[in-house]
Amino acid sequence: MQIEKNKVAVIDYSVKTAEGQMIDTSEGTEPLAFLCGFHNIVPGLESALVGKSEGDQVEVVVNPDEAYGQYNQEMVKEVPLSAFQGVEKVEEGMQFQAESPNGPQLITVTKVENEMVTVDGNHPLAGIELHFDVTVKQVRDASEEEIAHGHVHGEGGHHH
Ligand code: ZN
Repeated sequence: MQIEKNKVAVIDYSVKTAEGQMIDTSEGTEPLAFLCGFHNIVPGLESALVGKSEGDQVEVVVNPDEAYGQYNQEMVKEVPLSAFQGVEKVEEGMQFQAESPNGPQLITVTKVENEMVTVDGNHPLAGIELHFDVTVKQVRDASEEEIAHGHVHGEGGHHH
């Protein structure tokens, strides 16, 4: 069985930067299961996996346009410290979930200085070329419920 729309693929993966720095890996945790055709994974990786089947190993380089987008300087903003009410101490590296017109957005605090906080709304992997190494462990039909929800249930997927 091949990976295509409405199939569930279970993969082992690691992803590194162009310099070889490990960003994320399924090694040591559970494999990742995704429902093909529903934007569960970055587009560049999904399109590289379409047509592959169990046992296939895929190495693919995904540029930012096919992953988390280019780095956008306009998404870096300064806000007053007083905007962070209820947060005991605002520190560099903290991440917050904010509502944006495009849905929930992760913002990262990059600087705290003189009662002003610099926040970066770019995805932490924006502007980064991703080097994936993937092994396809399993390909199966998705259930009707999974297709209705747009994601995988059970092992490697959503538990609800
Ligand atoms: Zn569901």
